Amino acid sequence: MLVDVHAHLDVEEFDKDREEVLRKCRIVVVNAGVDLKSSMASLNMARSYPNVVPAVGLHPEFVEKADLELEKVLELIKEAPIISEVGLDFYWIKEEKLRKKQVEMLGRFMEEGERQRKALVIHSRGGLRDILEMVTSYKVKFVIHAYEGSIKDAIRVHELGGFVSIPPIIVRDKVRRTVAEKIPLESILTETDSPFMGPDRYRNEPCNVAITLMELAKLRKQDVREIEEKIQDNFKGIMEPYFSLSGANLTNK
Ligand SMILES: [Zn+2]
Repeated sequence: MLVDVHAHLDVEEFDKDREEVLRKCRIVVVNAGVDLKSSMASLNMARSYPNVVPAVGLHPEFVEKADLELEKVLELIKEAPIISEVGLDFYWIKEEKLRKKQVEMLGRFMEEGERQRKALVIHSRGGLRDILEMVTSYKVKFVIHAYEGSIKDAIRVHELGGFVSIPPIIVRDKVRRTVAEKIPLESILTETDSPFMGPDRYRNEPCNVAITLMELAKLRKQDVREIEEKIQDNFKGIMEPYFSLSGANLTNK
């Protein structure tokens, strides 16, 4: 079974064919909420689609919504097995005060992740060192989504017991290919960030995870099925103890 550990299928780009998109291949999709509204949409989607795992979070780019929404989003974590999309974005957010607030927000999510034993799928743009510093203070499982850092930092993620997740854009991204080739398989997950980050300029879709798997197999000179199975195991590792995977369906334990 394919694993898409980070996607946004609640957005309008999928209004016409969401069901079809989710049925095209055997896949489990973690749908990330970026604010209160989409976190609720994420929980709703999971009620309609058995292969969707809901994640709730507040995207660091929306740090200005924190005063209104943060507490409510934190409250929703008890209904979701994964916390996302959360993180640090120092690329779009330059103002020192807001960056500080992002760090505070991420700290709250990590605290909750530790307390409820839920993994965080983390957005990192320009803030990776800070994130890696922070995860050492909390007992949390974590994934750096759409990892775009160096191999050196990827090894650090691995040493901390975390994961880097790789989007299909890898086919046209040399740095990501180096990381995908060198980092131990036990620290790799796959994602699409649909509808963004596609292998081409069209709408990205969860089943494009297959493209990433093919590329991984080629780079690592390893059997594609073996990689697929290992990634499925990695995913089970971050989901435990909330769900078990059986066939194409996710069932509550
Ligand atoms: Zn995202």
